[in-house]
Amino acid sequence: MTIAPRQGLGVFSGYHSAQVDAAIRLNTNESPYRPPAELLKRWSEAVSELALNRYPDRSAKRLRSAIAKFHHTAEEAVFIGNGSNEVIQTILLAYGTHGATSTSFEPTYAMYETISRITGTRYLPIERNGDFRIDIPSLGASLAEINAAVTFLCSPNNPTGLNESPEVIASLLELAAGLVVIDEAYGQFSAYSHVGEVAQRDNLVVVRTFSKIWSLAGMRIGYCIGPPEVIELLWKVALPYHLDSSKQLIAAMSFDYVAEMEERVAFLVAERPRIETALAGMEVDFWPSQANFVLFRPRGRDGGELWRRLVDKGVLVRDWSHWPRLENCLRVTVGTRTENDAFLGALGEALTEK
Ligand SMILES: *Cc1c(COP(=O)(O)O)cnc(C)c1O
Repeated sequence: MTIAPRQGLGVFSGYHSAQVDAAIRLNTNESPYRPPAELLKRWSEAVSELALNRYPDRSAKRLRSAIAKFHHTAEEAVFIGNGSNEVIQTILLAYGTHGATSTSFEPTYAMYETISRITGTRYLPIERNGDFRIDIPSLGASLAEINAAVTFLCSPNNPTGLNESPEVIASLLELAAGLVVIDEAYGQFSAYSHVGEVAQRDNLVVVRTFSKIWSLAGMRIGYCIGPPEVIELLWKVALPYHLDSSKQLIAAMSFDYVAEMEERVAFLVAERPRIETALAGMEVDFWPSQANFVLFRPRGRDGGELWRRLVDKGVLVRDWSHWPRLENCLRVTVGTRTENDAFLGALGEALTEK
């Protein structure tokens, strides 16, 4: 006899992103670049000096202060987790569970629903309109009906790449009953950020990650900026000593290399229109992106089959073709110039094959 899991986890499928061996990996929106060599050298030397027999600094003071400085805010406004997924989980543990509801705007990042389920929070999504925009006329009624304790907004949105305008976000902040959490995993790639507005609001939290722009997906570091009362609660809910000493160190040291990060981001942002222009000349439709990836849909072809053909040519992209409302869609991460050329070459070939 197997022991039944807790209610709500029975038919749970968890997170899925195919891990397939491929020469060109453009499926999970990581940075194609390693962190700066000098940072890695300094960090690895410093790691050997750490007192690893001792627990890490529980309040991650040095890192917290570096993040606060980067965003021109106070340390009291910063919570840090092991990746932004853990930040989202901590927010739901603090504001969800026990019959509370959460919401977001579909299609969007699947982890809002997944982590809601894991934390026993009822996820009641709102559908985006036909252009994958938030439908402003119906927003007030949808939010009132759901009455969510936590409303997630991914902007730029994964997987569509679209940014919500400041006007849409202003409406959302006015209309939402509970906390509004803007996930800016891709904020640095887009025209604007909402971090600066946190100080004027008591219901806004902005989440960021080291996984994309800082080239540190392997280290698992994310954080959020929010009102001090919210942040204080998140630190209480997190497990003690949850951020190990070595990750606190590399994340804090990363802020000595802001110019290098901005240069990497600028390069990827410049590659984006090059990919979009090439896509515009092929038999695909795509959504203009504000992030480091582009969502596209082949015309009159099966997306899953196209995905397989690209894998056969050594290029791994993300298959969204079976996702509701994203029929036949694939998503490609912006990589190095060589990787992008390999992708465009493989796609061009695959689309002309029978
Ligand atoms: C990649 C991504 C993250 C990052 O998650 P981490 O746990 O920080 O690696 C968060 N939100 C969205 C929408 C993402 O696409």
